[in-house]
Amino acid sequence: MRARLSILGATGSIGRSTLDVVARHPDRFEVFAVSGHSRVDALFDICRAHRPAIAVVPDERTASSLRQRLHGLALPTLVESGEAALAAIAAAPEADIVMAAIVGAAGLVPTLAAARAGKKLLLANKEALVMAGDLLIEAVRRSGGQLLPVDSEHNAIFQCLAKHGGGEPDLRGVRRILLTASGGPFRQTPNSALASVTPDAACAHPNWVMGRKISVDSATMMNKGLEIIEAHYLFGMDAARIEVLVHPQSIVHSLVAFDDGSVIAQLGQPDMRTPIAYALAYPDRIDAGVDTLDLARIGRLDFESPDFLRFPCLELAYRALRASGTACAILNAANEEAVAAFLDGRLSFPGIAEVVAATLDAVADTRATALDDILEVDRKARAWAKERLAARTVRPA
Ligand code: NDP
Ligand code: MG
Repeated sequence: MRARLSILGATGSIGRSTLDVVARHPDRFEVFAVSGHSRVDALFDICRAHRPAIAVVPDERTASSLRQRLHGLALPTLVESGEAALAAIAAAPEADIVMAAIVGAAGLVPTLAAARAGKKLLLANKEALVMAGDLLIEAVRRSGGQLLPVDSEHNAIFQCLAKHGGGEPDLRGVRRILLTASGGPFRQTPNSALASVTPDAACAHPNWVMGRKISVDSATMMNKGLEIIEAHYLFGMDAARIEVLVHPQSIVHSLVAFDDGSVIAQLGQPDMRTPIAYALAYPDRIDAGVDTLDLARIGRLDFESPDFLRFPCLELAYRALRASGTACAILNAANEEAVAAFLDGRLSFPGIAEVVAATLDAVADTRATALDDILEVDRKARAWAKERLAARTVRPA
């Protein structure tokens, strides 16, 4: 029996890497449903190549034009639209595996739907866990589903802790988690030059090719901040036991330190197909189309401590995590708004951390954990951040 897959965010960087791995194993996997948002041509090509049963787009106008194009080719794909359709392909009984690869808060509702439906849930959409970690983890536990991290660092940690033969990771004897970070494109840029860096420069990551939002997050190191929160929920660790280690080559994807002094790491090429293949086939190992590392050619691996002054987003994430409640959802919402403003040229690069810090100060952190409450906090934090951006109290340079 082939495992049937729903891919939320199939047109994105993670979505396309997932389809690449899946296409290498037609005996194991079959694409049941896919979703796209703005890249409709890419979604059309995906439908042609993978012949899913369902494709989901944001609105009915886009749906009807995609339907016509698919009809012309006599393809079997049904086209549906809207958020309810997205949640439906995540929870559909026909789907065994759900890849959550939508970027940002837009992925929360369908990701939660997959968790509640007891799916094998492959999580790339870290923002969903940052916003609603307790809710998502509890939903997986109650439904008897499985949550497998796709984010390379968390996938690495999962691999370091995996029990032979599968199941939940074994956390006994773990002292600390060490999340590696490349430091992004501005690791060595003088602080004085950061005010004038462009969106394209921020998106030119030295090691990874990714969507624009996560690329900017990597440049501010908010990505690592979100990953600290992600590690907290995935592995049940306090903030104090999660450390960041800068490693510019992105070869060591993360490490686990144990009580006896051992440190176990996972290494590999900086290619998301490795963690995707691991999560898809867990506990088996399958070909991901990725070459084995040539460590002799790489020659050296460097490590350094993160610079918390240059990258204030790291401390903001620790602060939100320590505050608990809904502070992480506030952090995430403010960051999404600030990154969008930076990408549009409305905010300077250092302005991103300033907007996030100001929003964390201004919006009340509550103890809410129900989905509606979290969505309400998300709305409030965005409204506040947008007002702040519109008032240009934080100006581009
Ligand atoms: P991309 O921007 O490349 O892709 C995002 C996907 O989400 C696309 O399919 C996009 O559709 C869809 N999408 C965007 N907005 C919406 C919306 N409002 N509603 C529904 N769908 C939407 O991002 P990445 O693939 O790089 O990242 C996806 C997630 O994975 C992020 O959460 C990121 O943090 C995480 N991640 C990514 C890594 C990477 O290497 N890329 C590594 C680790 C984690 P369309 O393109 O058609 O507009
Ligand atoms: Mg990562």
